[in-house]
Amino acid sequence: MSTVLIIGSGGVASVGAQKCAQNNEVFKTIIVASRTKSKCEAIVQRLKKYPVISIAEQVDAEVKENVVALIKKYKPAIVMNLALPYQNIPIMEACIETKTHYLDTAAAEVREKAGFEYSTQWVYHDRFKKAGVMALLGSGFDPGVTSVFCMYGKKHYFDTIDYIDILDANGGDHGYPFATNFNPEINIREITMPGRYYEQGQWKEIPALTVKETYQLDEIGPKDMYLMYHEELESIVKFIPEVKRARFYMSFSEKYLTHLRVLVNIGMTSVKPIMYEGEPIVPLQFLKAVLPDPSSLGPRTKGKTNIGVILQGHKNGKPVQYRVFNVSDHEKAYAEVGSQAISYTTGVPAMIGAALILTKQWSGQGVFNMEQFNPDPYMELLNKWGLPWKETFKPVLIK
Ligand code: NDP
Repeated sequence: MSTVLIIGSGGVASVGAQKCAQNNEVFKTIIVASRTKSKCEAIVQRLKKYPVISIAEQVDAEVKENVVALIKKYKPAIVMNLALPYQNIPIMEACIETKTHYLDTAAAEVREKAGFEYSTQWVYHDRFKKAGVMALLGSGFDPGVTSVFCMYGKKHYFDTIDYIDILDANGGDHGYPFATNFNPEINIREITMPGRYYEQGQWKEIPALTVKETYQLDEIGPKDMYLMYHEELESIVKFIPEVKRARFYMSFSEKYLTHLRVLVNIGMTSVKPIMYEGEPIVPLQFLKAVLPDPSSLGPRTKGKTNIGVILQGHKNGKPVQYRVFNVSDHEKAYAEVGSQAISYTTGVPAMIGAALILTKQWSGQGVFNMEQFNPDPYMELLNKWGLPWKETFKPVLIK
């Protein structure tokens, strides 16, 4: 049984910590640390009903030395980085220095420029290898489970995969005219970037939110889905090299998009600082401050998410279309862990990734993506820990 250090105290960290506590055959001691100790204490309070030792700590993880000191104090077997993508690099550096396993749920970002890429984390491969420990990148739902879904399909149903479409649909309603389901700054940066997809060996770019398809999705009905760039496309095309096209779609309501267009048009989503009454402020960070806190959406959100992949390719020379997906219920997630399904569908896979590393079912030295391991144990644990999946060979595209 192991000690885990969870960095972050938002919705994802709260779910991740509670799921670790539920899986107390693997996790014995759970340290939760972020800049605001009271948020960590609130999570620790939720862990009290489980047979684990839980401790709240304070840390600014953007400074490597702070993370090193915390790791030295508690000697965790793994650090789960459930804070923000800005902290990925200092936390990875701290893990190398202390020879500790590392896991995150989103590719690294820098504040000054919207965009994310794995290359800034892949360069740490040799240093993790030399330290004799493992970094697992992107063990959330998307990125995360979506890559495992692709590898599971490939292993069991295909000789070659030609086309991959990832569909992330949210049929939930929180009753606000406009709010984001996870960190608004990270979320709006990602949505307002140009759309990008992979076709015939090349990356193709389109203006943000300009390509739409409608899909008929289990338990949530028809959904308008918009083509976007998402980080797992980068690792999927690297590790499924035969793929001819890979795209990512997310659902947005017309109401959400109307608000977003206005915010973009008036400059409120910019990440470039402007001067306001003699002080520099970043419009997007100010917008985050006025929007509802995603953690406050939990008790208000009704409906379900449906996230999965559609794979097309060949087996024994015959064409195959395969879909695998999970449906999660916002209210059910809230009843179990006090967070809506977006945090739930990220926190559960984070725990599963850490559990597979600690039980050595997924092992290696260096920096790894989800596609590099056997998907079967991960798929089993999704069913066990609250994210059951379904598969079908029926088409779902409406137009
Ligand atoms: P929140 O904004 O709710 O939480 C972010 C947390 O990061 C806060 O608790 C904050 O705590 C902590 N944090 C920020 N800066 C620092 C710092 N310098 N040092 C220590 N802690 C810090 O976000 P979510 O919980 O919604 O999301 C967490 C992560 O999960 C994000 O990286 C997000 O991109 C990712 N995600 C991944 C998904 C997937 O499917 N793969 C889906 C959804 C989210 P404090 O203020 O106390 O410092």
